[in-house]
Amino acid sequence: MKVPLLDLKPQYQTIKEEVLKVTEEIFESQNFILGSRVETLEKEIAEYCSSKHAVGVSSGTDALLISLMAADIGTGDSVITPTYTFFATAGSIARAGAKPVFVDIDSKTYNISSESVYRVIDNMTREERNKLKAIIPVHLYGQCCDMDSILEIAEKYNLIVVEDAAQAIGAEYKGRRAGSMSDFGCFSFFPSKNLGAFGDGGIVTTNSDEFFDKLRLLRVHGSHLKYYHKKVGGNFRLDALQAAIVSIKLNYLDGWTEARRNNADKYRELFIDAGLDDIVNLPAEKENRHIYNQFVIKLKEKRDDLRMFLNDAGIGTEVYYPVPLHLQDCFSYLNYRRGDFPVSEYTASHTLALPVYPELSYEQQAYVVEKIKEFYS
Ligand SMILES: *Cc1c(COP(=O)(O)O)cnc(C)c1O
Repeated sequence: MKVPLLDLKPQYQTIKEEVLKVTEEIFESQNFILGSRVETLEKEIAEYCSSKHAVGVSSGTDALLISLMAADIGTGDSVITPTYTFFATAGSIARAGAKPVFVDIDSKTYNISSESVYRVIDNMTREERNKLKAIIPVHLYGQCCDMDSILEIAEKYNLIVVEDAAQAIGAEYKGRRAGSMSDFGCFSFFPSKNLGAFGDGGIVTTNSDEFFDKLRLLRVHGSHLKYYHKKVGGNFRLDALQAAIVSIKLNYLDGWTEARRNNADKYRELFIDAGLDDIVNLPAEKENRHIYNQFVIKLKEKRDDLRMFLNDAGIGTEVYYPVPLHLQDCFSYLNYRRGDFPVSEYTASHTLALPVYPELSYEQQAYVVEKIKEFYS
């Protein structure tokens, strides 16, 4: 049996007619950049995410960068973020000209640990504290961070908060939607995200009128009036084709999310029935609405051997992320060492993402768990 990590083809079949229709309309109009399709999507996403505004951008990575730019974060500033996340989170801080300050994660949720944030801030000199301007919590794998603690820290130290919600569209924390709880919410439409475009794309949500204006200005080279530039921005535009396709898919998103959540429940039952709960640590689900962009298990031992065994059995898996960011070559100038963030380092070498996409069948899931049982027995 073949069980790919992700298969987008069955989903495409269900929306194909709508997509082809809108594609043809856009091709006939030859209007590709921004425009009414992007504005429509911005209104829809703002509503879906319970935010006042949304600004369509070129990618999730650029959503993070433009948010930092809109908050005037740059040279001489520093920004706290977890070391265990996709590269773009910290990459954007460095690209804005600021310094990433890494913190550890919680061992159960894999999200930013507020204890670690306090520890790192407590160890700062007064000068370092003055440079600290923002914090980027990441709602990893589709589950929101403990935002009450993050917002409390932000208030105490006067920090801008940018939620990296690239994996968490529609996730909730105590009834509040991911991306709506802070200054900026950054989303990605990369095809493997729960709401993916047919190419690159992203969006920023904000409740602030001032940040909304700034984001829209920076998106088009800092110019509202053509060829007159108030700020140095960039080309951070979302195109009409991607916006129109994402708008179509948004109508199906809640159904797909429910299917992912059901698949997560089925895995839980299957793993418990297989008596594997000793070796396999299942994802912890808090009071949040977890949207399962990834279903990540933590294994006591032999993660890499298991991965190879599953690959030979036709099962796709992935390691998110094998090297925490404080140990990446490009950040060696920050002088971190192995051992600085033990939870992140342990997690990076013991976790494995299993297929959880909406169209996965029960038979496929049963096969995955059966093969894992076979490997450990
Ligand atoms: C995917 C992702 C991004 C970047 O999004 P792109 O659209 O690929 O640029 C940023 N942060 C996290 C946590 C992601 O998963």
